[in-house]
Amino acid sequence: MKTIILLIEDNPKNAYLVTFILEKFGYQVILAQDGQAGITQALQVSPDLILLDMQLPVLDGYAVARELKGKEELRLIPIVAVTSYAMHGDRERILTAGCVGYLEKPINPTTFVAEIEQYLPANKRGSGVGRSS
Ligand code: MN
Repeated sequence: MKTIILLIEDNPKNAYLVTFILEKFGYQVILAQDGQAGITQALQVSPDLILLDMQLPVLDGYAVARELKGKEELRLIPIVAVTSYAMHGDRERILTAGCVGYLEKPINPTTFVAEIEQYLPANKRGSGVGRSS
C-alpha cells in the first residue's frame, strides 16, 4: 500500500511540482486547494503525512494545523508546513500551531523528498523511480 501524503496547497504550480516529485518517489498524493477542504480530506483519507501551505483561502494554515491537532483521529499525523513566509517569529508560530517541521518555498526539488521523509517512519518512506536517481 502506498504512503498517502495530503497536500494542502492553493497554488496550482506549486501543487503540480510537489505532486510530480512525490509521485516519482512512489507516494500517493491527495490535493486539497483550501484549508477547509484540507481538513475534510484529512478526515476522509487519514494520510500518513500532511504538507501544509500556510497561506490558504477559506482557512489559513495556522487554523488548519490547530484544527487537525484538535481531532483525536488526526492528531498523530505529522504536519509539515511549506511556506514562503521568511519573517522572524514565523517558525515559532508554525511549530506552536502544531506543525512538526517547516520548509521554505520555493522548494528545492533535489532535497525536498529527503527533507519531508525525516518526518515519516522508515517503513512509510517511498520507493519508485526517483529513489535510484
Ligand atoms: Mn498559498
